[in-house]
Amino acid sequence: MLFAMKSFGNSNAGPTHLFTLRNQRGMVVDLTDFGATVVRLVVPDRHGVFSDVVLGFDEVEGYTRIPGPYFGATIGRSGNRIGHARFTLDGKTYTLPVNNTPGGLPCNLHGGPVGFDKVLWQAEAATASEASVRFSHRSHDGDQGFPGNLAVTVAFTVQEDNALRIDYEATTDQATPVNLTNHSYFNLGGEGARTILGHILTLNASRYTPVNAGLIPTGEFEAVADTPLDFRAPHTIGDRIERANEQLRFAGGYDHNFVLDGGGKSLALAATVLEPQSGRELEVLTTEPGVQFYSGNFLDGSPGKGGRPYDKRSGFCLETQHFPDSPNHPNFPSTILRPGQTYRSTTVYRFKTR
Ligand code: BGC
Repeated sequence: MLFAMKSFGNSNAGPTHLFTLRNQRGMVVDLTDFGATVVRLVVPDRHGVFSDVVLGFDEVEGYTRIPGPYFGATIGRSGNRIGHARFTLDGKTYTLPVNNTPGGLPCNLHGGPVGFDKVLWQAEAATASEASVRFSHRSHDGDQGFPGNLAVTVAFTVQEDNALRIDYEATTDQATPVNLTNHSYFNLGGEGARTILGHILTLNASRYTPVNAGLIPTGEFEAVADTPLDFRAPHTIGDRIERANEQLRFAGGYDHNFVLDGGGKSLALAATVLEPQSGRELEVLTTEPGVQFYSGNFLDGSPGKGGRPYDKRSGFCLETQHFPDSPNHPNFPSTILRPGQTYRSTTVYRFKTR
């Protein structure tokens, strides 16, 4: 089934559109070309009641604000933080804009103030037969301080197994960091429901990359065993979030990169989240080696869709990606894309009920 398209209002970058993808089972996903953003994701609960399970805004205006919460957006060139907003590649040091200062320490967050979430992408039908749309964007040499002209595409497909599949590709004419992700905030009880603290999370990760007070990885790998970051067996998100733990204190909750067991090779199960009341369950599969689990600690009650307040911890993100600050950590899997290579990454958000 091909997508339907309508206007989503004007942005500083030009007129924007909303694309609606559906499957035969009633799952609906709305996307906008502004930021290649997931705007609405409607799936059934165990009684067949459909709800929108992603946080967002009714109009494009909400998505254009800087800084914003990055609801549903495609993040690039480099997801999460680059410490001191600086990195050295092939002997040359690149300085990026500082757009975040946790703990008073400067960094570049999500590719800069005008990252891929703040640009208007070109849209086309990805195939004739699927519920699919492909967005493409050309990021020029020097864009937000990054080297090389980068051609990026991201294709979203709604599958018959109630899954949203996201396929990323990129090529460059100079070596550059590339680390793309999607920044959807989920609340499986329906967006606008109070908190996600009762959601039950399982993460296939025995290790994580601890951070300093600026939320920049120290470069170490630490075992999750005997810490509140151990989600190898299911735990509610709220269970241990207030424990006295330096990592939780730095981030005001969970905001950490988990090293996926056996991750980074082929599409593999990274995480499962169950919302016990509705019975909605989310499975996250990815080809990436890491996932940033963010418990929505910086949400502050600002209104979203329908004017509903999005309180602290009323949405969670599972951002599949390479590890934060990779360009500054030679011991992390490399995020450097070179001319002649093609960056490829796939993530599947699959919805079930129990
Ligand atoms: C980061 C958080 C940040 C959030 C929204 C997440 O990917 O890990 O620290 O606050 O994005 O900006």
